[in-house]
Amino acid sequence: MKLTLLGVYGPFPAAGKGCSSYLVEDGDTRILLDCGSGSLSRLRALIPGRMRLDAIVLSHLHADHCGEIDLFRYLMEFGLCDAPVTLFSPEIERFTSPVFRPVRTYDGFEAKIGTVTLRFSEVRHAVKTTGVRITDENGRSLFYTGDSAWFDGIEDITKDADLLLADACLVDESNEKALKNHMTVFEVMRLRAAAHCGRAVLTHRFGGETYLPALSDPFCEYAEEGAVYEI
Ligand SMILES: [Zn+2]
Ligand SMILES: [Zn+2]
Repeated sequence: MKLTLLGVYGPFPAAGKGCSSYLVEDGDTRILLDCGSGSLSRLRALIPGRMRLDAIVLSHLHADHCGEIDLFRYLMEFGLCDAPVTLFSPEIERFTSPVFRPVRTYDGFEAKIGTVTLRFSEVRHAVKTTGVRITDENGRSLFYTGDSAWFDGIEDITKDADLLLADACLVDESNEKALKNHMTVFEVMRLRAAAHCGRAVLTHRFGGETYLPALSDPFCEYAEEGAVYEI
């Protein structure tokens, strides 16, 4: 299974960068996780010509995670991407176009797409949000938190993931309001160790922050756009 980071910023992009969006591929199976700003142009650079996606997964409906969904709709309506495409989201009411096959996600919901299994878990955020574990046929797995604060049980849902792609938007541990919606860099390091994840990629980097603390855990690294991970 291969993960490509298309955009790694939130809630708005840093200059010249993009918001949350990730491509997961396993053989011919191709899944897009979130589609924040910049995602479609980056995906088109990776997949020249007509596009085929097996599914689009939206963790939640904040603009930095789904802002380009209508651009994907236009692409499909113009015949440049196979349609309909399965669209997983914790809220589906707004997706009325026939190019989408919307599927509501919730805690414990599972689906099989191509060669991988998706298992969704509710996480803690300002709006309804589901994280997802994607597992290939060899049992290798990736867990994407979407946007989430720390909560009791987050170690259980992320347990033993080979790669943890986690919201690490915050640096300031004293910002109580923000801590209700996002994890800090330090919490993600703690989570990786507590959940025994193989490695953690710290994403949803704050678009307005230039300072990043050094990471004391050698199995943690900051997300960089264009980075590719073999899982
Ligand atoms: Zn976000
Ligand atoms: Zn959010």
